[in-house]
Amino acid sequence: MVVRPIDLVNQPAPFQDRYKILQRLLDVLEKLKPNAKGKLNKLATGLELRVAKSSKSPQSYKFNMSILLRDLNKFQGDLSKIKIGHKPVAHSTPAVENKATKANAMEKLKSILIDVDTLEKNGYITSIGSAATATAIRSGDLQGDSEHAICLRCNTKFSKSEIMKKTLCRYHPLKKEYDRESKIHHYPCCGETAVSSSFLRLGCQTCDHHVFREQTYEGMSNITEFKDTRHVEGPENVLALDCEMAYTSLGYEMIRLTIVDFFTSKTLFDEIVRPIGQMIDLNSQFSGIHEIKESDSLSYDECMQRVLTSSLINKDSILIGHGLENDVNVMRILHRKIIDTAILYSKGRFKTSLKNLAFENINRKIQSGEHDSSEDAIATMDVVKSKIGIPIAQKEWN
Ligand SMILES: [Zn+2]
Ligand SMILES: [Zn+2]
Repeated sequence: MVVRPIDLVNQPAPFQDRYKILQRLLDVLEKLKPNAKGKLNKLATGLELRVAKSSKSPQSYKFNMSILLRDLNKFQGDLSKIKIGHKPVAHSTPAVENKATKANAMEKLKSILIDVDTLEKNGYITSIGSAATATAIRSGDLQGDSEHAICLRCNTKFSKSEIMKKTLCRYHPLKKEYDRESKIHHYPCCGETAVSSSFLRLGCQTCDHHVFREQTYEGMSNITEFKDTRHVEGPENVLALDCEMAYTSLGYEMIRLTIVDFFTSKTLFDEIVRPIGQMIDLNSQFSGIHEIKESDSLSYDECMQRVLTSSLINKDSILIGHGLENDVNVMRILHRKIIDTAILYSKGRFKTSLKNLAFENINRKIQSGEHDSSEDAIATMDVVKSKIGIPIAQKEWN
């Protein structure tokens, strides 16, 4: 079937030019959207018509068309990111967003799984055999020894066995930032500068205890043994996962776990978890959790029993998260099929925050106040969807 441009009263360019450019547009779309073959003629004529309508001269028509072709390639055919004449395309042409198939999405997801070497370099423990290597890599971290720890907030070295003895830890909850204009560091939590003479420079908040975090396989497994997901049978599934953590007498522990299904966007699991150690700080500012009630929370063991099952995390699950090593380590699971957006979008050693990734890639504002593991899991999953070019809103798959 020959595809022809739709006639306009005021043609911005000769019919012949519009005809040629429409065929080129169709070629580009065929490469970008191989699954939408039957709908591409309609999509191409629709897009060409919009460019034609928003152009006033042959020059502007050519220019606008070249922008469209450039953006189609740049965003890999994701219409939600493309504008014609400053107006987004996606809203006015909802029928043309092609549906992805499950098989196609699985194939794309598998192509961005992080390899085991990279996982281990980023603090993942993928098997007990590999734990020695991971430990060696991370032993350069400030972490003291098996009996001592260095406070993550104030850098004081302290004895882990005395962590519940009352002391004074003064700290800033947010990391200092460098201000290029004044050439000094300041703390965004309180505005205090690193060169201030006020004692507030040492910290705008206080806590009765220091805090630490086990970083090595040995340290973590001394508290709770790791569980290998290889022993959990079940069908292949794709899950986005996010934990909130708190500081306790045993270091860093999970206090909330959210698991969202990649294909349906349904929350499959979302529970508050009681830590094993004594609570020091719920990190409410970040975790969004202000109290843990015995009646509506699970113990760590109950939580893991419910999560490591065929319908949730099993040996073939693909787990999606941002900086997911923190989550799987507090969960104490060994797993190898992982898509980590912090690694996927890292530039050298520099990792972008989920907040920035969500804003840049899916135009969504998250973490404007306290964090919410459900919001974070969904945002991470949607960043991955946009990365592999499948519609974020799609809920039905075949
Ligand atoms: Zn501060
Ligand atoms: Zn401290």
